[in-house]
Amino acid sequence: MTKILEGKTGIIFGVANKRSIAWGCAKSLADAGMRLAFTYVGERLEKSVRELVKEIPGSLVLRCDVTKPEEVDQVFDQVRDEFGFLDTVVHAIAFAKREELQGDFYHTTKDGYMLAHEVSAYSLTAISRRAMALMEGREGSIVTLTYLGSMRVMRNYNVMGIAKAALEASVRYLAADLGPRGIRVNAISAGPIRTLSASGVKDFSDMTEHIAGIAPLRRNVTSEEVGDACLFLSGPHSRGITGTTLFVDAGFHIMGV
Ligand code: NAD
Repeated sequence: MTKILEGKTGIIFGVANKRSIAWGCAKSLADAGMRLAFTYVGERLEKSVRELVKEIPGSLVLRCDVTKPEEVDQVFDQVRDEFGFLDTVVHAIAFAKREELQGDFYHTTKDGYMLAHEVSAYSLTAISRRAMALMEGREGSIVTLTYLGSMRVMRNYNVMGIAKAALEASVRYLAADLGPRGIRVNAISAGPIRTLSASGVKDFSDMTEHIAGIAPLRRNVTSEEVGDACLFLSGPHSRGITGTTLFVDAGFHIMGV
């Protein structure tokens, strides 16, 4: 592949293991020449993330639970010290309590609602605010991951659908704020992919089968395909695009009943 991102740097939030969509994004960006920093949550994931990123030599590995502002600050301090500047942020994180991802949405607790929004939606704003300073004069790109459950009722997706709606609205407001600085903000709405987070949604496998039977391409998508869309949104070929949600879902979102 042509190294169109040689000399560029990025932070990838959200690698838990090799199935993570964030890992698909990281591989596409690294193959294009970008130098990367990875974040992890907690000691259990630190080990697996450190092992995985050996495949991408020269990467930084940093602790970051987005519910801890001091850890988010440290990530950007360390990236500034090590890289000096920043071109791309991939925000591929989300969390909701397992019990909130099944049954009726109206059972959602206030705590569960707030936690899902803090991790899955607010964190994009907290991260973008810190990224801005390091993207000065760099034509930066911020890419987040969303899902169709923000716009349509998808069984068991529940509070995460509400958080994704907030995330997509945040993309538009951030794009408007950061555009004058030359920073673009976009979302990728990915089709269902079997990952650690996805396994928390009740009957997820049934949903993937149903979608593969209806989507125009008659299949589900892979994290590599999402990664290549992330490469597009992070690189010069998308320089005129901001504030948008790009569907990478084998076309499922256009289908009616
Ligand atoms: P994943 O479990 O591999 O990744 C989720 C990541 O979120 C993990 O790395 C986890 O450590 C991180 N995370 C959770 N709480 C955090 C916190 N407090 N601070 C920092 N990080 C935290 O699953 P994934 O499916 O790759 O999810 C990545 C993104 O893609 C999510 O936003 C998800 O909603 C979105 N998405 C997933 C699918 C799918 O079907 N898998 C479809 C569309 C969108």
